[in-house]
Parts: sequence; structure tokens; C-alpha cells
Amino acid sequence: MVGAAQTQTEQHGHLPKCYEVVEEWRTGTLDTLKMLGESDILAVKYASYLPTWHLLSVIRLMGVQANRAGPIAIEEMESRAPFLPILATALDEICTEAQLKGCRLWLDAEQQRLQPGLDNWAIELMRRHNKSATPLIYNTIQVYLKNSQNNVEQHIAAVRGEGWSLGVKLVRGAYIKHENRDFIHDTKADTDRSYDGIAEQLLCLHPGEQVSLFLATHNAKSVERAVRLYRERMEKKSTVTAFECGQVQGMADELGCELIRANEDESASTTGEVRAPKTFKCLVWGTVGECMGYLHRRAVENTEAVERTTHMRDALVRETRRRFQFEVVPNFLKLKYR
Ligand SMILES: Cc1cc2nc3c(=O)[nH]c(=O)nc-3n(C[C@H](O)[C@H](O)[C@H](O)COP(=O)(O)OP(=O)(O)OC[C@H]3O[C@@H](n4cnc5c(N)ncnc54)[C@H](O)[C@@H]3O)c2cc1C
Repeated sequence: MVGAAQTQTEQHGHLPKCYEVVEEWRTGTLDTLKMLGESDILAVKYASYLPTWHLLSVIRLMGVQANRAGPIAIEEMESRAPFLPILATALDEICTEAQLKGCRLWLDAEQQRLQPGLDNWAIELMRRHNKSATPLIYNTIQVYLKNSQNNVEQHIAAVRGEGWSLGVKLVRGAYIKHENRDFIHDTKADTDRSYDGIAEQLLCLHPGEQVSLFLATHNAKSVERAVRLYRERMEKKSTVTAFECGQVQGMADELGCELIRANEDESASTTGEVRAPKTFKCLVWGTVGECMGYLHRRAVENTEAVERTTHMRDALVRETRRRFQFEVVPNFLKLKYR
């Protein structure tokens, strides 16, 4: 690696240590991939290396903070430069390995100073590797940004007529506290409208626009809207984009569990027609420090979710009543009348 690092330094002016960090990130990501099974998803983070993967209806997340693509990736993304050869080769290798294992890859979204460069890289990677109808790579679009609609149009324009498939993970956006506020919708209601509008647009695309959608959200209303639309279009035999959902484990679990149950019930039914989305839960694992850091960031993002708390409280009350009716009361009656 040292020789390769020196050659890269001469060409691109980064310190050799930076290339060693990329090499560590490459081998760390490939090692992580070895542990994945079919249909798992690995989340690739350039800026801070936190690969995540999903197992069946579970997303597992490994936080290895020491291991990241680091300074090179950040500098190159910031300057919107094309891929450096060392990054392009590493990513091609990761994509090929994921393809062989039947896994998919997420490119997580970052702050705005990095995101335009990251979007360019994502489109380039998708163009190279998303050859089948189910994409290998999903790029993340943050709808809290005022330019998110333009960004979606750019992604659709890139895929149109080119014969590759677009994977979109749709999120509201995690960096509201650290981002230039002018970039972000003025109110939460505007962000919600943006999320639902873009989800609807992506679900209703034309057959020529090969897109797969992943709704990464804890917001029950957004998910319910998308599921309703998906079902309506399936019923009318209209074209509809394939879509899945995912939430962080421990957040909106009542929503995830409802969706998983609906998907399993429909899969087991005699008609075999599945209209409920496949749903994933995100489990964080790593050292306690890494996990706590990750969960702390997720908790900060979710502080505004008063509505979701009510939803969860209602679900817990319903479940307590159900258990009381079916377990506690009958057992009490049995004791009393024995
Ligand atoms: C599986 C998964 C993967 C994720 N991956 C990424 C990723 O790659 N990159 C990333 O950035 N985020 C990511 N997120 C986090 C995501 O962007 C949200 O921060 C988080 O999910 C909370 O939004 P919500 O849709 O779940 O719920 P909600 O509670 O309905 O929405 C909260 C969000 O609304 C927005 N918001 C809040 N207040 C305002 C306001 N006053 N004005 C405008 N907007 C406002 C913010 O985006 C806030 O996070 C991911 C989330 C999940 C579940």
C-alpha cells in the first residue's frame, strides 16, 4: 500500500496517511460485506465510516468510527471532483462484491457542503452498477432541502433512456441543527409536504423510468399515505414503483411491526398478492461509545416527533389492554371460579 499511496500522492497531492485511511476503509467495508447475507443492505458512508446492513426484516448497523474513507473523500466531495482512482477502484470492488452476495448498497446523505459532489459520484456509480431492474445502489435524497425537487428531477433525467435503474432512499434529513438554515424548508409542514409529494411522484413514475424507492422514515402518516397510494395503484393495475420502508430499531417500532405483519400476512395468503411493503429495522452495533454516539444523533433528530410519541403511546396502551383481556383477566377468572 505504501508504494501505491506514494504514487497517488504524487498525482493528487494528498498525504500518504490519507490513502492508508482509504485502504483501511476499503478492507473494513469488504470484511463487513463478508458477514452479509442475501437481500441485506450495506450503508456506505464516505465521510464517517458507519456501514449498516439489513438482514431480512432487520437492518444491522456496525459503527467502526476508526475506519473511514476520511479526508480524501471529504476534500474530493467538497470540490465536486470526479472520483479519485483509489476511491473509484475501491468502490467498484465493493459494488462487485455486494452484487455477488446478492446484497444492496446505500450511499448515506451528508451535509450540503458535501452532498452535490456525493450525488455526482452516486449517479456515476449507479450508471456503472445498476444494470438490473432491482438496483444494487441507492442514493439518499434529503427532502428538507429547498432544492430537493430539483435534485429528484436531475436523478430522473439521468436515468431516463439510459437503461440503468435508479435507487432512491428518501429521508427528511438529519443535519438541520448543523446546516445552513437557508437551504432548508422554512417549516416542518413544508418538509412534510415535500416528503409526501416526492414519494408520490416517485411511486407514480412511467414504466420507462426504472426506479426503486426506500422510505427511511419514522413518520407514520407519510408511510400510510405511500402504502395507500401503492395499494390503490396495484388495485387499478396502474404502474407503480417498487418500494420498501425502514426505521431505526427502537424508534417507531409499532409502525415497523405493523408493516412487517401486513407483509407477512399477505405473503402467506392464498392469493399471494403482496401489497404491503417489505420493512426493515435498523439495529446499531459496535462499541458502546460508537452506538451511544449514533443513537444520541438519532434522538436529537427525532426530538420534534411529538406526534410519533403519541402514536407509540397509543400503541402501547392498546397492547396493554390486549394482554390484560387475553391473559390477565381469563387467568384471574380461572382462579376465582376453580
Ligand atoms: C433507516 C434510516 C436511514 C437514514 N439515513 C439518513 C441519511 O443517509 N442521511 C440523512 O441525512 N438522514 C438519514 N436518516 C435520518 C432522517 O433524515 C431523519 O432525520 C429522521 O428519520 C427523522 O425524520 P422522520 O421522517 O423519521 O420523522 P419526522 O419526525 O416526521 O421528521 C423530523 C424531521 O423533519 C425535519 N424538520 C424538523 N423540523 C423542521 C423545521 N422546523 N423545518 C423544516 N424541517 C424540519 C427534519 O429533517 C427532522 O429530522 C435516516 C433515517 C432512517 C430511519
